[in-house]
Amino acid sequence: MISYDEALQLTLASATRTSLETLSLREALGLVLAEDLVTPFPLPRFDNSAVDGYALSELMGGSLWKAIRTIGAGECPGEPLQPGECARIFTGAPTPPGTYAVVMQEDTALKDGAIQVSEEPQPGQNIRRAGEEFSLGAIVLPAGLPLNAAGVAAAATLGRTNVSVYRAPRVGIVVTGAELVCPGKELYEGQIYESNSYALSAALLSLGLTQEFVEVIGDDLDLTLTTLRNALQRCEVLITTGGVSVGDRDVVRGALEKLGVREVYWKVAIKPGKPVYLGTQGEKAVLGLPGNPLSVLATFTLLAQPFLKAAMGCPNPVPRRLKAKLASPIRHKPGRREFIPANLNGVTVSPILGQGSHMLGGMARADALIDVPADALEIPAEEEVWVIPFGQGSN
Ligand code: AMP
Ligand code: MG
Repeated sequence: MISYDEALQLTLASATRTSLETLSLREALGLVLAEDLVTPFPLPRFDNSAVDGYALSELMGGSLWKAIRTIGAGECPGEPLQPGECARIFTGAPTPPGTYAVVMQEDTALKDGAIQVSEEPQPGQNIRRAGEEFSLGAIVLPAGLPLNAAGVAAAATLGRTNVSVYRAPRVGIVVTGAELVCPGKELYEGQIYESNSYALSAALLSLGLTQEFVEVIGDDLDLTLTTLRNALQRCEVLITTGGVSVGDRDVVRGALEKLGVREVYWKVAIKPGKPVYLGTQGEKAVLGLPGNPLSVLATFTLLAQPFLKAAMGCPNPVPRRLKAKLASPIRHKPGRREFIPANLNGVTVSPILGQGSHMLGGMARADALIDVPADALEIPAEEEVWVIPFGQGSN
Protein backbone atom coordinates (compact mmCIF):
# COMPACT_ATOMS: atom_id res chain seq x y z
CA MET A 1 0.00 0.00 0.00
CA ILE A 2 1.39 3.41 -0.93
CA SER A 3 1.40 6.52 1.26
CA TYR A 4 -0.78 9.54 0.63
CA ASP A 5 2.22 11.61 -0.46
CA GLU A 6 3.21 8.97 -3.00
CA ALA A 7 -0.37 8.73 -4.25
CA LEU A 8 -0.54 12.51 -4.60
CA GLN A 9 2.68 12.58 -6.65
CA LEU A 10 1.42 9.80 -8.92
CA THR A 11 -1.92 11.56 -9.24
CA LEU A 12 -0.36 14.85 -10.31
CA ALA A 13 2.02 13.08 -12.70
CA SER A 14 -0.96 11.32 -14.34
CA ALA A 15 -2.89 14.52 -15.06
CA THR A 16 -2.74 15.69 -18.67
CA ARG A 17 -3.16 19.40 -19.04
CA THR A 18 -6.20 20.33 -21.12
CA SER A 19 -5.94 22.23 -24.41
CA LEU A 20 -6.43 25.97 -24.67
CA GLU A 21 -9.66 27.73 -25.46
CA THR A 22 -10.81 31.31 -25.74
CA LEU A 23 -13.73 32.11 -23.48
CA SER A 24 -15.73 35.19 -22.65
CA LEU A 25 -14.77 36.71 -19.31
CA ARG A 26 -17.95 35.57 -17.60
CA GLU A 27 -17.25 31.97 -18.61
CA ALA A 28 -13.60 32.09 -17.58
CA LEU A 29 -14.08 32.40 -13.82
CA GLY A 30 -12.26 29.60 -11.98
CA LEU A 31 -10.17 28.62 -15.02
CA VAL A 32 -6.45 29.24 -15.39
CA LEU A 33 -5.12 31.94 -17.71
CA ALA A 34 -3.04 30.64 -20.59
CA GLU A 35 -1.75 34.04 -21.78
CA ASP A 36 -0.11 37.05 -20.18
CA LEU A 37 -2.64 39.88 -20.01
CA VAL A 38 -0.81 43.07 -20.95
CA THR A 39 -2.28 46.51 -20.43
CA PRO A 40 -2.82 48.61 -23.58
CA PHE A 41 -2.68 51.83 -21.53
CA PRO A 42 -1.14 52.97 -18.25
CA LEU A 43 -3.14 52.08 -15.13
CA PRO A 44 -4.66 54.33 -13.95
CA ARG A 45 -5.15 55.64 -17.47
CA PHE A 46 -5.02 59.33 -16.42
CA ASP A 47 -4.34 61.37 -13.28
CA ASN A 48 -7.59 61.39 -11.31
CA SER A 49 -9.03 62.27 -7.96
CA ALA A 50 -9.18 59.69 -5.15
CA VAL A 51 -11.85 61.64 -3.23
CA ASP A 52 -14.77 64.02 -3.57
CA GLY A 53 -13.33 67.49 -2.94
CA TYR A 54 -11.41 70.30 -4.60
CA ALA A 55 -8.49 70.22 -7.03
CA LEU A 56 -6.25 73.09 -5.94
CA SER A 57 -3.77 75.02 -8.04
CA GLU A 58 -0.26 75.85 -6.78
CA LEU A 59 -0.36 77.30 -3.29
CA MET A 60 1.49 80.57 -4.08
CA GLY A 61 1.27 81.47 -0.40
CA GLY A 62 -2.47 81.87 -0.59
CA SER A 63 -5.06 80.05 1.48
CA LEU A 64 -8.18 80.89 -0.54
CA TRP A 65 -9.03 79.37 -3.90
CA LYS A 66 -11.65 80.47 -6.33
CA ALA A 67 -13.84 77.58 -7.51
CA ILE A 68 -14.04 77.98 -11.29
CA ARG A 69 -15.79 74.78 -12.39
CA THR A 70 -16.95 71.27 -11.48
CA ILE A 71 -15.40 68.11 -12.94
CA GLY A 72 -17.41 64.90 -12.59
CA ALA A 73 -16.27 61.31 -13.24
CA GLY A 74 -16.31 60.67 -16.97
CA GLU A 75 -15.92 64.36 -17.86
CA CYS A 76 -13.01 66.20 -19.46
CA PRO A 77 -10.64 67.99 -17.06
CA GLY A 78 -10.76 71.21 -19.10
CA GLU A 79 -8.26 74.07 -19.15
CA PRO A 80 -5.27 74.12 -16.75
CA LEU A 81 -5.89 75.65 -13.34
CA GLN A 82 -4.36 79.11 -12.92
CA PRO A 83 -2.76 80.15 -9.63
CA GLY A 84 -5.47 80.83 -7.06
CA GLU A 85 -8.05 78.71 -8.84
CA CYS A 86 -9.61 75.43 -7.82
CA ALA A 87 -12.17 73.02 -9.30
CA ARG A 88 -14.87 71.06 -7.52
CA ILE A 89 -14.00 67.44 -8.34
CA PHE A 90 -15.47 64.00 -7.70
CA THR A 91 -13.85 60.59 -7.18
CA GLY A 92 -12.50 59.15 -10.42
CA ALA A 93 -12.72 62.45 -12.31
CA PRO A 94 -9.57 63.53 -14.21
CA THR A 95 -7.58 66.20 -12.41
CA PRO A 96 -6.93 69.24 -14.60
CA PRO A 97 -3.39 70.25 -15.56
CA GLY A 98 -1.93 72.49 -12.90
CA THR A 99 -3.46 70.53 -10.01
CA TYR A 100 -1.15 70.69 -6.99
CA ALA A 101 -3.28 68.53 -4.68
CA VAL A 102 -6.87 67.46 -4.06
CA VAL A 103 -8.38 68.17 -0.66
CA MET A 104 -11.33 66.24 0.69
CA GLN A 105 -14.59 68.09 0.78
CA GLU A 106 -14.74 67.51 4.57
CA ASP A 107 -11.46 69.44 5.02
CA THR A 108 -12.67 72.57 3.25
CA ALA A 109 -14.91 75.52 4.08
CA LEU A 110 -16.53 78.20 1.93
CA LYS A 111 -15.42 81.70 2.90
CA ASP A 112 -16.41 84.85 1.00
CA GLY A 113 -17.22 82.76 -2.06
CA ALA A 114 -13.81 81.07 -2.01
CA ILE A 115 -12.53 77.71 -0.77
CA GLN A 116 -10.50 77.58 2.39
CA VAL A 117 -8.64 74.51 3.65
CA SER A 118 -8.07 73.55 7.29
CA GLU A 119 -4.60 72.08 6.74
CA GLU A 120 -1.93 72.86 4.19
CA PRO A 121 -2.19 70.15 1.50
CA GLN A 122 0.80 68.00 0.58
CA PRO A 123 1.87 68.03 -3.07
CA GLY A 124 0.07 65.29 -5.04
CA GLN A 125 -2.25 64.48 -2.15
CA ASN A 126 -5.34 62.46 -3.16
CA ILE A 127 -4.23 62.26 -6.78
CA ARG A 128 -4.09 58.80 -8.34
CA ARG A 129 -1.25 59.14 -10.84
CA ALA A 130 -1.45 57.76 -14.37
CA GLY A 131 0.55 54.51 -14.55
CA GLU A 132 1.19 54.31 -10.80
CA GLU A 133 -0.06 50.70 -10.74
CA PHE A 134 1.04 49.52 -14.21
CA SER A 135 2.82 51.29 -17.02
CA LEU A 136 1.75 50.82 -20.65
CA GLY A 137 2.60 47.28 -21.82
CA ALA A 138 3.11 45.83 -18.34
CA ILE A 139 1.85 42.29 -17.54
CA VAL A 140 -1.15 42.77 -15.27
CA LEU A 141 -2.13 39.08 -14.99
CA PRO A 142 0.47 36.40 -15.86
CA ALA A 143 -0.27 33.13 -17.65
CA GLY A 144 -0.86 30.43 -15.04
CA LEU A 145 -2.99 32.55 -12.76
CA PRO A 146 -6.32 31.01 -11.77
CA LEU A 147 -9.00 33.61 -12.48
CA ASN A 148 -10.90 34.64 -9.37
CA ALA A 149 -13.42 37.47 -9.14
CA ALA A 150 -10.68 40.12 -9.01
CA GLY A 151 -8.89 38.41 -11.91
CA VAL A 152 -11.83 38.60 -14.31
CA ALA A 153 -12.48 42.16 -13.14
CA ALA A 154 -8.84 43.09 -13.84
CA ALA A 155 -9.15 41.60 -17.34
CA ALA A 156 -12.27 43.71 -17.92
CA THR A 157 -10.35 46.80 -16.75
CA LEU A 158 -7.98 46.20 -19.67
CA GLY A 159 -10.96 46.21 -22.04
CA ARG A 160 -10.79 42.47 -22.66
CA THR A 161 -14.00 40.62 -23.50
CA ASN A 162 -12.41 37.19 -23.74
CA VAL A 163 -9.25 35.45 -22.63
CA SER A 164 -7.29 32.31 -23.42
CA VAL A 165 -7.59 29.70 -20.66
CA TYR A 166 -6.97 26.01 -20.12
CA ARG A 167 -10.22 24.30 -21.01
CA ALA A 168 -12.34 22.76 -18.25
CA PRO A 169 -11.81 18.99 -18.39
CA ARG A 170 -14.89 16.95 -19.35
CA VAL A 171 -15.79 14.98 -16.24
CA GLY A 172 -18.22 12.08 -15.99
CA ILE A 173 -19.66 10.43 -12.89
CA VAL A 174 -20.61 6.76 -12.54
CA VAL A 175 -21.83 5.58 -9.15
CA THR A 176 -22.14 1.87 -8.54
CA GLY A 177 -24.01 -0.24 -6.02
CA ALA A 178 -26.91 -2.69 -6.30
CA GLU A 179 -28.48 -1.14 -3.19
CA LEU A 180 -28.74 2.36 -4.67
CA VAL A 181 -31.97 4.14 -5.55
CA CYS A 182 -32.16 7.69 -6.85
CA PRO A 183 -33.91 10.15 -4.51
CA GLY A 184 -37.52 10.66 -5.60
CA LYS A 185 -38.12 6.96 -6.18
CA GLU A 186 -39.56 4.43 -3.75
CA LEU A 187 -37.18 2.49 -1.50
CA TYR A 188 -37.57 -1.26 -0.99
CA GLU A 189 -36.01 -3.41 1.67
CA GLY A 190 -32.23 -3.25 1.78
CA GLN A 191 -32.05 -0.26 -0.51
CA ILE A 192 -30.67 3.20 0.24
CA TYR A 193 -30.82 6.52 -1.51
CA GLU A 194 -27.85 7.31 -3.68
CA SER A 195 -25.97 10.37 -2.42
CA ASN A 196 -22.45 10.18 -3.85
CA SER A 197 -23.32 11.70 -7.21
CA TYR A 198 -24.71 14.72 -5.38
CA ALA A 199 -21.53 15.05 -3.32
CA LEU A 200 -19.42 14.84 -6.47
CA SER A 201 -21.50 17.32 -8.52
CA ALA A 202 -21.27 19.82 -5.68
CA ALA A 203 -17.54 19.24 -5.22
CA LEU A 204 -17.01 19.73 -8.98
CA LEU A 205 -19.04 22.92 -8.89
CA SER A 206 -16.72 24.36 -6.25
CA LEU A 207 -13.94 23.98 -8.87
CA GLY A 208 -16.08 25.68 -11.50
CA LEU A 209 -16.79 22.33 -13.23
CA THR A 210 -20.03 20.64 -14.23
CA GLN A 211 -20.17 16.92 -14.98
CA GLU A 212 -21.09 15.75 -18.49
CA PHE A 213 -23.28 12.94 -17.14
CA VAL A 214 -24.23 10.91 -14.07
CA GLU A 215 -24.85 7.17 -14.39
CA VAL A 216 -26.15 5.04 -11.53
CA ILE A 217 -25.65 1.30 -11.96
CA GLY A 218 -25.72 -1.94 -9.96
CA ASP A 219 -22.82 -4.30 -9.39
CA ASP A 220 -23.29 -6.45 -12.48
CA LEU A 221 -20.02 -6.96 -14.37
CA ASP A 222 -21.49 -6.83 -17.89
CA LEU A 223 -23.50 -3.69 -17.17
CA THR A 224 -20.47 -2.13 -15.50
CA LEU A 225 -18.33 -2.94 -18.55
CA THR A 226 -20.81 -1.40 -20.98
CA THR A 227 -21.42 1.65 -18.84
CA LEU A 228 -17.72 2.34 -18.22
CA ARG A 229 -16.86 1.79 -21.91
CA ASN A 230 -19.47 4.37 -22.95
CA ALA A 231 -18.52 6.71 -20.15
CA LEU A 232 -14.86 6.72 -21.18
CA GLN A 233 -15.89 7.82 -24.67
CA ARG A 234 -17.89 10.72 -23.33
CA CYS A 235 -15.41 12.30 -20.91
CA GLU A 236 -11.73 12.84 -20.16
CA VAL A 237 -11.85 12.30 -16.41
CA LEU A 238 -14.16 9.60 -15.13
CA ILE A 239 -14.97 9.57 -11.44
CA THR A 240 -16.59 6.41 -10.12
CA THR A 241 -17.73 5.55 -6.61
CA GLY A 242 -18.10 2.17 -5.02
CA GLY A 243 -17.06 -1.24 -6.19
CA VAL A 244 -13.30 -0.81 -5.69
CA SER A 245 -12.93 -2.78 -2.44
CA VAL A 246 -12.09 -6.46 -2.22
CA GLY A 247 -15.62 -7.93 -2.14
CA ASP A 248 -16.83 -10.37 -4.81
CA ARG A 249 -19.26 -7.74 -6.01
CA ASP A 250 -16.62 -5.03 -6.35
CA VAL A 251 -16.40 -5.26 -10.11
CA VAL A 252 -15.22 -1.78 -11.08
CA ARG A 253 -11.46 -2.49 -11.11
CA GLY A 254 -11.92 -5.72 -13.02
CA ALA A 255 -14.09 -3.98 -15.60
CA LEU A 256 -11.57 -1.17 -16.03
CA GLU A 257 -8.78 -3.67 -16.53
CA LYS A 258 -10.83 -5.41 -19.25
CA LEU A 259 -11.29 -2.02 -20.94
CA GLY A 260 -7.53 -1.51 -21.07
CA VAL A 261 -7.33 1.06 -18.31
CA ARG A 262 -3.84 0.91 -16.79
CA GLU A 263 -3.79 0.87 -13.00
CA VAL A 264 -1.58 3.64 -11.53
CA TYR A 265 -2.41 2.78 -7.93
CA TRP A 266 -4.99 0.99 -5.87
CA LYS A 267 -5.15 1.32 -2.08
CA VAL A 268 -3.61 4.25 -0.28
CA ALA A 269 -2.73 4.22 3.43
CA ILE A 270 -5.37 6.76 4.43
CA LYS A 271 -8.50 6.68 6.55
CA PRO A 272 -11.15 7.07 5.26
CA GLY A 273 -10.71 6.11 1.62
CA LYS A 274 -8.18 3.26 1.62
CA PRO A 275 -9.41 1.42 -1.51
CA VAL A 276 -9.13 4.51 -3.75
CA TYR A 277 -7.98 3.74 -7.30
CA LEU A 278 -6.38 5.67 -10.15
CA GLY A 279 -6.05 4.38 -13.69
CA THR A 280 -5.25 5.88 -17.07
CA GLN A 281 -6.22 5.08 -20.64
CA GLY A 282 -4.09 7.21 -22.94
CA GLU A 283 -4.74 10.78 -21.85
CA LYS A 284 -7.93 9.81 -20.04
CA ALA A 285 -8.07 9.02 -16.36
CA VAL A 286 -10.36 7.12 -14.02
CA LEU A 287 -10.52 8.03 -10.36
CA GLY A 288 -12.22 5.15 -8.57
CA LEU A 289 -13.38 6.48 -5.23
CA PRO A 290 -14.72 4.15 -2.54
CA GLY A 291 -18.48 4.01 -1.98
CA ASN A 292 -18.69 5.32 1.54
CA PRO A 293 -20.02 8.86 1.44
CA LEU A 294 -17.38 10.26 3.81
CA SER A 295 -14.62 8.50 1.87
CA VAL A 296 -15.94 10.06 -1.32
CA LEU A 297 -15.65 13.59 -0.01
CA ALA A 298 -12.27 12.95 1.63
CA THR A 299 -10.71 11.27 -1.42
CA PHE A 300 -12.18 13.91 -3.71
CA THR A 301 -10.49 16.64 -1.64
CA LEU A 302 -7.22 14.72 -1.22
CA LEU A 303 -6.76 13.23 -4.70
CA ALA A 304 -9.47 14.01 -7.27
CA GLN A 305 -9.37 17.75 -6.72
CA PRO A 306 -5.55 17.98 -7.09
CA PHE A 307 -5.85 15.86 -10.26
CA LEU A 308 -8.49 18.15 -11.76
CA LYS A 309 -6.62 21.30 -10.76
CA ALA A 310 -3.42 19.98 -12.37
CA ALA A 311 -5.39 19.15 -15.54
CA MET A 312 -6.78 22.68 -15.51
CA GLY A 313 -3.25 24.13 -15.47
CA CYS A 314 -3.41 25.28 -11.86
CA PRO A 315 0.13 26.08 -10.64
CA ASN A 316 -0.48 24.82 -7.09
CA PRO A 317 -2.86 21.85 -7.24
CA VAL A 318 -1.77 20.33 -3.90
CA PRO A 319 -4.42 20.75 -1.16
CA ARG A 320 -3.84 23.91 0.86
CA ARG A 321 -2.86 23.15 4.46
CA LEU A 322 -2.70 25.41 7.45
CA LYS A 323 -1.86 25.03 11.13
CA ALA A 324 -4.57 25.30 13.76
CA LYS A 325 -4.86 24.62 17.47
CA LEU A 326 -6.77 21.49 18.39
CA ALA A 327 -9.87 22.24 20.54
CA SER A 328 -10.26 18.71 21.90
CA PRO A 329 -7.96 15.66 21.99
CA ILE A 330 -7.79 13.10 19.21
CA ARG A 331 -7.13 9.40 19.70
CA HIS A 332 -5.65 7.60 16.74
CA LYS A 333 -4.80 4.00 15.99
CA PRO A 334 -1.31 4.09 14.46
CA GLY A 335 -1.16 2.77 10.91
CA ARG A 336 -2.92 4.88 8.31
CA ARG A 337 -2.79 8.66 7.99
CA GLU A 338 -6.23 9.83 9.07
CA PHE A 339 -8.30 12.77 7.88
CA ILE A 340 -10.89 13.78 10.45
CA PRO A 341 -13.83 16.07 9.56
CA ALA A 342 -13.65 19.22 11.66
CA ASN A 343 -14.78 22.78 12.10
CA LEU A 344 -12.22 25.50 11.62
CA ASN A 345 -12.92 28.54 13.74
CA GLY A 346 -10.25 31.18 13.34
CA VAL A 347 -7.03 29.51 14.51
CA THR A 348 -8.82 26.71 16.40
CA VAL A 349 -10.02 23.44 14.93
CA SER A 350 -12.65 21.16 16.54
CA PRO A 351 -12.84 17.55 15.38
CA ILE A 352 -16.31 16.24 14.70
CA LEU A 353 -15.98 12.96 16.54
CA GLY A 354 -17.85 9.69 16.29
CA GLN A 355 -17.84 9.74 12.51
CA GLY A 356 -18.05 6.43 10.72
CA SER A 357 -17.18 6.62 7.04
CA HIS A 358 -20.86 5.94 6.25
CA MET A 359 -22.01 9.00 8.19
CA LEU A 360 -22.58 12.25 6.37
CA GLY A 361 -24.19 14.37 9.10
CA GLY A 362 -20.88 15.48 10.60
CA MET A 363 -19.32 16.10 7.20
CA ALA A 364 -22.23 18.37 6.34
CA ARG A 365 -21.19 20.58 9.26
CA ALA A 366 -17.46 20.31 8.58
CA ASP A 367 -15.31 22.75 6.67
CA ALA A 368 -11.92 21.16 7.14
CA LEU A 369 -10.08 17.85 7.53
CA ILE A 370 -7.57 17.41 10.35
CA ASP A 371 -4.50 15.66 8.96
CA VAL A 372 -3.46 13.09 11.61
CA PRO A 373 0.00 11.56 11.02
CA ALA A 374 0.05 7.79 10.47
CA ASP A 375 2.10 7.09 13.61
CA ALA A 376 0.21 9.40 16.02
CA LEU A 377 -1.32 7.84 19.14
CA GLU A 378 -3.03 10.65 20.93
CA ILE A 379 -2.90 14.34 20.12
CA PRO A 380 -3.78 16.45 23.18
CA ALA A 381 -5.98 19.53 23.06
CA GLU A 382 -4.12 22.81 22.42
CA GLU A 383 -1.57 21.08 20.20
CA GLU A 384 -1.03 22.48 16.71
CA VAL A 385 -2.22 20.24 13.89
CA TRP A 386 -2.28 20.47 10.10
CA VAL A 387 -5.69 21.18 8.66
CA ILE A 388 -6.96 21.02 5.06
CA PRO A 389 -9.86 23.41 4.46
CA PHE A 390 -12.41 21.95 2.08
CA GLY A 391 -15.72 22.66 0.43
CA GLN A 392 -17.16 25.85 -0.98
CA GLY A 393 -14.71 28.71 -1.13
CA SER A 394 -11.70 26.78 0.19
CA ASN A 395 -9.99 26.42 -3.19
P1 AMP B 1 -18.62 -0.02 -1.65
O1 AMP B 1 -17.37 0.79 -1.73
O2 AMP B 1 -19.28 -0.24 -2.95
O3 AMP B 1 -18.37 -1.31 -0.91
O4 AMP B 1 -19.63 0.80 -0.75
C1 AMP B 1 -19.33 1.12 0.57
C2 AMP B 1 -20.53 1.68 1.30
O5 AMP B 1 -20.94 2.88 0.72
C3 AMP B 1 -21.76 0.78 1.31
O6 AMP B 1 -22.36 0.88 2.56
C4 AMP B 1 -22.63 1.39 0.23
O7 AMP B 1 -24.00 1.14 0.43
C5 AMP B 1 -22.32 2.85 0.37
N1 AMP B 1 -22.50 3.54 -0.91
C6 AMP B 1 -21.93 3.19 -2.08
N2 AMP B 1 -22.28 4.01 -3.06
C7 AMP B 1 -23.12 4.92 -2.51
C8 AMP B 1 -23.83 6.04 -3.01
N3 AMP B 1 -23.72 6.40 -4.31
N4 AMP B 1 -24.59 6.76 -2.17
C9 AMP B 1 -24.68 6.41 -0.87
N5 AMP B 1 -24.02 5.37 -0.31
C10 AMP B 1 -23.26 4.62 -1.12
MG1 MG C 1 -20.83 -1.34 -3.63
